[in-house]
Amino acid sequence: MQTKSPPRLAAEALAFFLDFDGTLVPFDKPDETVPLVDDGLRSLLTELRNRADGALAMVSGRSIEVIDSLFEPLRLAAAGEHGAEWRFTPHATREQLVPPPGLVTAHAACEQFANLTLGVRFERKALSMVLHFHRHPELREAAAKAAESGCLPGSGVRVMHARGMVEVKPVEASKGAAINRFMQAFPFAGRKPVFIGDDITDEDGFLAVNALDGISIKVGPGNSHARYRLPDEDAVRDWLEQLLD
Ligand SMILES: [Mg+2]
Repeated sequence: MQTKSPPRLAAEALAFFLDFDGTLVPFDKPDETVPLVDDGLRSLLTELRNRADGALAMVSGRSIEVIDSLFEPLRLAAAGEHGAEWRFTPHATREQLVPPPGLVTAHAACEQFANLTLGVRFERKALSMVLHFHRHPELREAAAKAAESGCLPGSGVRVMHARGMVEVKPVEASKGAAINRFMQAFPFAGRKPVFIGDDITDEDGFLAVNALDGISIKVGPGNSHARYRLPDEDAVRDWLEQLLD
């Protein structure tokens, strides 16, 4: 297991890609509580973004709409729904993948499973959906099976595991694809990418950043492709803050 702390770097040459839940705020059962974005976090991200000439984006499983409401009045560049939607700059138009046809069948299968299963909550997003079972980890296998049954071969959707949930999303959507898309666009292109995340769904992002010779940072325990590790969200903030020194 990689335990090396990330090095000190100059923020000016970096492009920041940041997961939200479990990375910048404590992971706290996202279906049950709304995380609090404090002013300290808003000003830290604003300063980092200024140092990096705008090259800072949230890369989350949450929708951009929800990210905006959590950070209000701060608006950030963002990839939402694991990269199924994106916005290159804070006030740019939101763009998204073409919705794959398989979302309809997956929706029916996931919703039916949630309706019949105590302890599971169904959440529909624009291009993805979630079966939440944070208090019932024993339901993971059944939830994954139900979601898989709705993902027909060739229909453009697939199942993805995350902490306390199973998601169905477009095959083309991943945090790695999102980071690669940003790295070809202004103001991210030409910089060294940094990606920090805590979950299984962040592994695609770590691989993409490693391929670009960037800085991949896993938050918390567990196997990871990330090259560096920080113990928790407080350590993430401390590391980001020292980049501003
Ligand atoms: Mg996370």
